[in-house]
Amino acid sequence: MQSQQIVDAVHAKVAPLIGCGRVADYIPGLAGVDPRHFGLALATKDGAVYGAGDWQTPFSIQSVSKVFALALVLSHDSDAIWRRVGREPSGSPFNSLHQLEHDLGIPRNPFVNAGALVVVDQLLTLTGDPCLAVLDLLRAEAGNPAIGVDEQVAKSEAEHRHRNAALAHLVASYSNLTNPVDAVLDQYTAQCAIAMSCGDLARAAGLLARHGLRSNGSRFLSRSDAKRLNATMLTCGTYDGSGEFAYRVGLPAKSGVGGGILAVVPNRCTLAVWSPGLDECGNSYAGQAALDTFTTLTGWSVF
Ligand code: GLN
Repeated sequence: MQSQQIVDAVHAKVAPLIGCGRVADYIPGLAGVDPRHFGLALATKDGAVYGAGDWQTPFSIQSVSKVFALALVLSHDSDAIWRRVGREPSGSPFNSLHQLEHDLGIPRNPFVNAGALVVVDQLLTLTGDPCLAVLDLLRAEAGNPAIGVDEQVAKSEAEHRHRNAALAHLVASYSNLTNPVDAVLDQYTAQCAIAMSCGDLARAAGLLARHGLRSNGSRFLSRSDAKRLNATMLTCGTYDGSGEFAYRVGLPAKSGVGGGILAVVPNRCTLAVWSPGLDECGNSYAGQAALDTFTTLTGWSVF
């Protein structure tokens, strides 16, 4: 089966599920998004892109951005961040406060919100502008300089960031933030509000399918760090749905409450899917079904 036939077949199979689930409404800027959107893109490791549905429509990538922030931190120093953040699945909601307190301010993994705040803190120290660093990486790897922050979503999230502020202050109370809490929150919020299409997202993540090599062939991550990042996505990338996701799909992946999911087939391709209706863990309902259908149809999983 050719790649275009694959994405078309997946789209057709999940069509009845599009619109199921609930759009994230705790961020008012996301609440108005039409739940009937569905986009799917497959980018081969050589950069060819195939898409179905709304694959060229920009959407709010939200927590998918956490993969690129962590990749940037690892590209500077592969060890330091792991003294501040764990790498165990959380088994708890992505914005859990009580788990963070139980773990004495060391977030369970870099993909729950508290962990991502620590990653952003580290990237702030390293670069001075984490959101711009993430944007530069995304723009270069996707080959699209127009990728940017959706200012309306960023403003809305900033106005409703009480829970993330509580997490950041709790981390800071355990001396696990090095920059001012508000500076970290501003950067985290902006990063989550990056908008881009499935096609650009799949292409931008190609370095994870190429064992750490950028689109121009230069090395961005060591082979080991690329392996570790993919492994962390597999075990923690879809929050307390990670076990079920691994069971159904069998690929490293990262979801966001905008309804996007990025998945990696190492040494072969990356996939980005977007459908805004979410399940109770905050993962796209039709998006997970699409990736389940994809690996079942092609046999391209890591297992
Ligand atoms: N910006 C969202 C938040 O901080 C990201 C959460 C997500 O995508 N899971 O709550």
